[in-house]
Amino acid sequence: MDYGLTEQQLMIQELARKVSEEKILPVRAELDEKEEFPYEPMKALAAADLFGIYLPEAYGGFGGGALDLCVAVEEISRICGGVAVSYAANALGAYPILLFGSEEQKQKYLPDIAAGRKYCAFALTEPNVGSDAGAVETTSKKDGDSYVLNGSKQWITNGGVAGTLTVMATVNRARGARGLTAFIVEAGTPGFTLGKKEKKLGIRCSDTRVLYFDNCRVPAANRLGREGDGFRVAMATFEKSRPGIGAQAVGIAQGAFEEAVKFAKTREQFGQKVSSFQAIQHMLADMATQIEAARLLVYQAAREVDRNSKESAKISAMAKMYASDTAMKVTVDALQVCGGSGYMREYPVEKMLRDAKITQIYEGTNQIQRSVIALAIVRESANWK
Ligand SMILES: Cc1cc2nc3c(=O)[nH]c(=O)nc-3n(C[C@H](O)[C@H](O)[C@H](O)COP(=O)(O)OP(=O)(O)OC[C@H]3O[C@@H](n4cnc5c(N)ncnc54)[C@H](O)[C@@H]3O)c2cc1C
Repeated sequence: MDYGLTEQQLMIQELARKVSEEKILPVRAELDEKEEFPYEPMKALAAADLFGIYLPEAYGGFGGGALDLCVAVEEISRICGGVAVSYAANALGAYPILLFGSEEQKQKYLPDIAAGRKYCAFALTEPNVGSDAGAVETTSKKDGDSYVLNGSKQWITNGGVAGTLTVMATVNRARGARGLTAFIVEAGTPGFTLGKKEKKLGIRCSDTRVLYFDNCRVPAANRLGREGDGFRVAMATFEKSRPGIGAQAVGIAQGAFEEAVKFAKTREQFGQKVSSFQAIQHMLADMATQIEAARLLVYQAAREVDRNSKESAKISAMAKMYASDTAMKVTVDALQVCGGSGYMREYPVEKMLRDAKITQIYEGTNQIQRSVIALAIVRESANWK
């Protein structure tokens, strides 16, 4: 199918597929089993110059956008959702700097991220703060030419490996979402320490951490935007990054689908290939159709994001929601096609099913996506005749 990708995007697709098949496929089961961070695959992705594809050339990137990133994330996810999120979380952490950073902040932090020399993380979630992002409890108090951060974050992807983190804190809890303020925090800043690394159902090789801020002094020069801009920073970031979660979901679904087809074409029962049973064929047909629909929505959402369309928040939420629901359905059906073999760790489908689940949860659960979509529809409908 011709998805209308540019020459550069086709090149990224081919390169990401090559690196994923050569460097990630041979180690994905072991990384998952041992729950080890994928240092070598990440180095291979950096060596292939895939870290800066969505960043402007002025900061060491390739000048692409959200769609370029989606194409790479999809290919990596087809092989391993855990490596894909470790890679994609760099963009999640970098977008606040790209969107709200001063020229000085961009020059200082983005080139290392674009080259994959320093990993990046985005820290919003806290023990008492999940979907209600405006209720952040971590405080930031101005003191001279710095801010003093106190509080904790949880479930932060790349939290333990990132050199640069964008962190949401509040300058005034009474102001709710309008008190939120975003900061760049460098690993190693006194008062910033790592907590436990989480043990998870899926995406097990990714690093998911608790972070502590105990009188952590951050230069005022590291504030992103103005005091109170934090909620806007977070929402604008999600708008850009949500198609990427959709791409992750499409890639995982594609990987599981291919495994199911391969299995159905080789496994024989009742003297024939199981792919000859209509019940199996119809499952494969549904899976293929749902994946194509999800992919088209994800690519279109990324295009809307890249041209700053007014509808990008709604379409990004639709793409994330639809693709992740599709990934869950397709991985469950792919496992069913493989029968008992699919349930065994020897086959990759059970891992893909475990990896798919998170795409319905992070960067806003699918319940929150539905609320975002509904709100946009209600607003739009005010202009309907
Ligand atoms: C593996 C992993 C990695 C993550 N990485 C990061 C990261 O890098 N950075 C970061 O900041 N966060 C990260 N998160 C956090 C993630 O974004 C949150 O888990 C997610 O936003 C949901 O918050 P919650 O888990 O606290 O659920 P809750 O908000 O407690 O929700 C519980 C349930 O209630 C529903 N619900 C809540 N509010 C509403 C509502 N208004 N309407 C309808 N239903 C509602 C939810 O959909 C959900 O089903 C990560 C989480 C995981 C598990």
